[in-house]
Amino acid sequence: MLLPDSRVYVAGHTGLAGSAICRRLEAEGHRNLLLRTHTEVELTDEGAVERFFDAEKPSHVILAAAKVGGIAANAAFPAEFLSVNLRIAANVIESAWRHGAEKLLYLASSCIYPRVTPQPIREEALLTGALEPTNEAYAIAKIAGLKLCQAYRRQHGFDAIVAMPTNLYGPHDRFDLEAGHVLPSLLRRFHEAKEAGAPEVIVWGSGSPRRDFLHADDLGTACLTLLRDYSDEMPVNIGSGDDILIRDLAFLVAEITGYRGAITFDPSRPDGTPEKRLDITRISGLGWRPAIDLRSGIEQTYRWYRENCARETATV
Ligand code: GDP
Repeated sequence: MLLPDSRVYVAGHTGLAGSAICRRLEAEGHRNLLLRTHTEVELTDEGAVERFFDAEKPSHVILAAAKVGGIAANAAFPAEFLSVNLRIAANVIESAWRHGAEKLLYLASSCIYPRVTPQPIREEALLTGALEPTNEAYAIAKIAGLKLCQAYRRQHGFDAIVAMPTNLYGPHDRFDLEAGHVLPSLLRRFHEAKEAGAPEVIVWGSGSPRRDFLHADDLGTACLTLLRDYSDEMPVNIGSGDDILIRDLAFLVAEITGYRGAITFDPSRPDGTPEKRLDITRISGLGWRPAIDLRSGIEQTYRWYRENCARETATV
């Protein structure tokens, strides 16, 4: 059972998802968080992971560590996205089980569903069709992680559960123009264009794909709900219940950042999957609802970006 003094290891605590999960755990009184940076425990190193679990014996493990990136990074570095994420999942799940963890929550991703599938996407759609090629390597690694959780549950009775988050955004994201996901990239691009008085901002692709965006703090509450109240091999979608056209997202980000110039779509950049809105019936049945609407979530993230990153990135 998850108690305030449970030894909870959050792998990936500096990232977008992991930092939000830690904020939620702390807000709910958890004082025994085990946190290690990348340099303290290299999760692709089997021996390092084994030594950490042997020494610390966490009771609960949240596996939010992953090599992640936007559509361009995924297409450019498939070897790393596949290999690094496979090794992280295999090492952490094995050591958590071997050292007696009570429960493990693995974060997969909505990109592991088939490229073309009925919307909103139900958990049962997994492995019913071909993947989106732009993020196939990442998706295959995440499917393997999910299957590891199911296999350890079946073979060893290990309480490993899987969450399928949609496209996340919020503080501690990577505001990188080339390697980042669409929301942090656009926030930075529109912000810098406004500051520089630039006449035009380029947005990748046709603008016609749809995406389901969830603030990372809503992911945090969802993960705690699952840790407390869910124990089954069926993965659980975590989404906003809604989606938005990338074109409309670009106009919304322009408005929030105060950019007043032109917006041009660049069809030479990939669109990726046409749509991936998650069906959230399963987690809604546990009483969870997202609390942060897209506009206020982007406004809050933009404030965070200006306070924490805008000065550094402006000089890059
Ligand atoms: P995806 O959900 O895996 O495709 O992840 P992304 O967040 O990288 O991209 C989402 C959508 O936003 C895709 O259709 C992209 O073509 C589009 N997009 C528009 N501008 C940008 C941008 O500056 N960066 C990224 N990453 N995507 C962009």
